[in-house]
Amino acid sequence: MNQGLLDSYTCYNGVEIPKLGLGVFLMKDESELIDAIKSAVEFGYRHFDTAKIYENEEYVARGLKESGLSREEVFLTSKVWNYDQGYEETKRAFQESLDKLETDYLDLYLIHWPAEKFIDTWRAMIELYEAGKIKVIGVSNFQIHHLEELKNAGLVQPMVNQIETHPEFPQNELHDYMKENGIIHEAWGPLGQGKSDLLNHSILAKIGQKYFKTPAQVVLRWHLERGEVIIPKSIHRNRIKENSELFDFSLTQEDMNEIALLNTETRYGGDPDNQERLRATSIKPTK
Ligand code: NAD
Repeated sequence: MNQGLLDSYTCYNGVEIPKLGLGVFLMKDESELIDAIKSAVEFGYRHFDTAKIYENEEYVARGLKESGLSREEVFLTSKVWNYDQGYEETKRAFQESLDKLETDYLDLYLIHWPAEKFIDTWRAMIELYEAGKIKVIGVSNFQIHHLEELKNAGLVQPMVNQIETHPEFPQNELHDYMKENGIIHEAWGPLGQGKSDLLNHSILAKIGQKYFKTPAQVVLRWHLERGEVIIPKSIHRNRIKENSELFDFSLTQEDMNEIALLNTETRYGGDPDNQERLRATSIKPTK
């Protein structure tokens, strides 16, 4: 058992969140996803990140059941999608996610994107938290101005913000703001989503050689050195294992400074301030 996989950060409400989890975005093939979860559990993963919009919550439930873990051993995250935002809608969507995940609580529930009704969504999430149905409440893709909006509305602040982060887009300003405000930084797309040439960068190979680690492992360790939660995705057993072997080395300040040179401020995913995209994804499709 890789003990590092039990390492956690403590949210400001005292709940622990494992530093490493398995992301399952785009995993829509049931048996592939179940196999990935079973491999991950075998290697020691106890944290899984899904979302209603990934359309795989049922498969996650099946994978976890087949892995033989008890509910208490697992840290499970889901997210409320844009067209489910609003007070009543969020409560309904939350219950639907619970049903699909075959559980009666979530460890972490996130507002997926700062769509128009996010304040009402947040009020519903606070109530669900107070009722003990969510252990940790957070947001995703929130910029500083969105976080300030919640603060100015006099509402409790999120415990976690899950945002696109990788060496080419380290989000330094938002990272520092979250640190100052006690909000845990969770990195999505921690490896650049396979959309960039990041992992072929010679700096990463050079650093990796010193520690007998791959460029992917160097990047994931870079996130950990910055105090971020990471949820790399892979369906491949060897990569799921590789992405967990991060706790037997550390990067020096010099390594961190070299990796900082890879920052090109390049976002590969959606822009949280793209109102047109937020509006379009807030319309519920008719079946
Ligand atoms: P990622 O950065 O984890 O990249 C995944 C891709 O990297 C894989 O498809 C594979 O091509 C490659 N890869 C994985 N391990 C590798 C290795 N060891 N060596 C080389 N290549 C490797 O991107 P992601 O899946 O988009 O992000 C991780 C998770 O974050 C998602 O699965 C999802 O759970 C979450 N996410 C959240 C949001 C959000 O808006 N909140 C958006 C996207 C993703």
